Amino acid sequence: MIEDKNPQRTALENLGEFGLIKHLTQHFELNHESSLKGIGDDAAVLDFKNKKAIVSTDMLVEGVHFDLSYMPLKHLGYKSVIVNLSDIYAMNATATQVTVSIAVSNRFPLEALEEFYEGVAMACKMYNVDLVGGDTTSSAKGMIISITAIGVAEEADIVYRCDAKPNDLLVVTGDLGGAYLGLQVLDREKEVFKVNPNNQPDLEPYSYIVERQLKPEARKDIVELLEKLEVKPTSMIDISDGLSSEILHLCNQSEVGCNLFEDKIPLDPTVISASEEFKMDSTMIALSGGEDYELLFTIDQKDFDKIKGNPNLTVIGHIAPEEEGVHLITRANTKIALTAQGWNSFTS
Ligand code: ADP
Ligand code: MG
Repeated sequence: MIEDKNPQRTALENLGEFGLIKHLTQHFELNHESSLKGIGDDAAVLDFKNKKAIVSTDMLVEGVHFDLSYMPLKHLGYKSVIVNLSDIYAMNATATQVTVSIAVSNRFPLEALEEFYEGVAMACKMYNVDLVGGDTTSSAKGMIISITAIGVAEEADIVYRCDAKPNDLLVVTGDLGGAYLGLQVLDREKEVFKVNPNNQPDLEPYSYIVERQLKPEARKDIVELLEKLEVKPTSMIDISDGLSSEILHLCNQSEVGCNLFEDKIPLDPTVISASEEFKMDSTMIALSGGEDYELLFTIDQKDFDKIKGNPNLTVIGHIAPEEEGVHLITRANTKIALTAQGWNSFTS
């Protein structure tokens, strides 16, 4: 499909490695004072003065984490950066730099990489981060992407997964389940396309959830909002795998239990209608879906008034002593133990 979309195909070997790197990165500027040296030397040089540096890396493998038959390369470039920035925001830090490393097989022309870097550039601009390095190499088959995101924070502002306390409130941003259902829609259209390539899918009714899958956003705005509200969460994590596995991570690391209320889980109307269409339970999808990149955090009860009524934030439960365990209180008011049903168990 990449071949079909790019009438012009310049083979990568025509440029050579240095020519390629230069070509792909020439339009990136450095905007942060902390970026002393970016691309071009053996290593980048950063200066965070008396603040702490926050570093996170993720790897994305074609066929495992993304499918290029419905993921346009520009979106992939954007999303690859976003998923890494999300980890920085989950520490309550400001993302400042990224490095982007790619391995591609000879099936990828220069134009495909240009498209990928357009997405990278767009994310860097939107989130104000500097591209300061990376690596470029070949792979025997498919595309592999590794991104490192770097951020900065005052030591006192950093939020870990391990400091939630009994009676803290459990809060989630945005709404859940959209990205997983967007993938179901795209998967279904791919199957239809295989049978009838002339069939033009109408994705319009699903635009919200398809966008949640193809062009997710990281919650930089929430880190800024919390600062403005003068709320420092007691613990925080980003929702990459699904609400239930993230709650279990917070609880295990903080050595606490939790009660999560099914009727409080925020769902977009499109998520409710699409889950009915796919004959899936919307709560299950929110719990186990994944790739929503919302933030999940706990706050002291005394901070409740500061966040109350904010449309971006929903209180979905509260932290309990460890002995009480981690439970979902259903709409029918039954209490069931939460289990880690991450992304994998749901897709296989
Ligand atoms: P080395 O041989 O020391 O690994 P490279 O030739 O791989 O150096 O890289 C030269 C410069 O280009 C370095 O600053 C490196 O960080 C940067 N760079 C290499 N590949 C990429 C890429 N895909 N995206 C951004 N910067 C890159
Ligand atoms: Mg290198």
